[in-house]
Amino acid sequence: MKAEAVETIAGSAAKPVLLERHCSVRRTVEIVLDSWSFLILREAFFGVKRFDTFQARLGIPRQTLSTRLKKLVENGLLSIGTRDSGRSKQYFFTPRGKDLFGIMLSLMEFGDKWLADDEPPPLQLIHTRCGKACHPITVCSECKTPVTAHDVTYRDGPGAGYSPPEARPVTRRSSDPNVLQRVRPCSVARSLSSIGDRWSFLILREGWFGVRRFDEMREKLGIATNILTDRLNRLVDAGVFRKVPYNAAGDRFEYRFTKMGIDLYKPMLVMMAWGDKWLSDGRPPLRLRHKKCGKDFHAQVVCSECLEPIAATDTDYTLTYTLKE
Ligand SMILES: [Zn+2]
Ligand SMILES: [Zn+2]
Repeated sequence: MKAEAVETIAGSAAKPVLLERHCSVRRTVEIVLDSWSFLILREAFFGVKRFDTFQARLGIPRQTLSTRLKKLVENGLLSIGTRDSGRSKQYFFTPRGKDLFGIMLSLMEFGDKWLADDEPPPLQLIHTRCGKACHPITVCSECKTPVTAHDVTYRDGPGAGYSPPEARPVTRRSSDPNVLQRVRPCSVARSLSSIGDRWSFLILREGWFGVRRFDEMREKLGIATNILTDRLNRLVDAGVFRKVPYNAAGDRFEYRFTKMGIDLYKPMLVMMAWGDKWLSDGRPPLRLRHKKCGKDFHAQVVCSECLEPIAATDTDYTLTYTLKE
């Protein structure tokens, strides 16, 4: 393992003010890429409602759990209920929170396909609506065929534009692989580990917009050189990018998506759909068009067997592992 690069907050005083592309995925990722928040949400999807149960399942420090739950409530993802006469508090999903399930499923689809090391997926999903063992697939909302990065075009939507970034990602890596692998093997956690942190995500996003070269990325993102180098190396190690020389001397590189990297586009689209729905006041920054059917669409996660959307309440699981206590 390489030593963690010393990081600084990018955009030092001498730099011009950066403008950041409006993006529904960004804010969604801020929520999902926090390892603890993600694990709490995941356990909530597994039916956990009480503070003590979260605490016991995750072995999370009480103070950390308390802060994260508070934040999830503030963000409108969980609400506090008192369903059994004022005993201990319980946490329930709000509609917005429950809708994150599609993102989890899409990340699961990715992780099962690329990161399971030829082992069977840790969790076999059962869609209770159709009664079949299934896997999630990411499709076009209009024609219900699977989407790939190659058949999507985009143009500005009503919420398009640039604003100064609210806050640059801060110094620490937010998705910690050691934390993410707690308690249960999980394809979603593996996928999040390969996305990395917020910086890695921003790099990926610029990649989707066609930015491939180091200098151009540095300029677009206002990212410190050492962080950019570190994150690009990680993304190459994770198998998301290939490093290809583009000059005659062979010492300048561009970063191109691998097949696996291209597939990461699907969970990104699902995050975008969620952000468009819940965080952009009906003014999505981007409009997506599916070349296959010629229609504007959003990404949707459906059951591989009946092609209906999968809601958290319509699922059951068979686990292929036992919980680590
Ligand atoms: Zn379509
Ligand atoms: Zn089904």
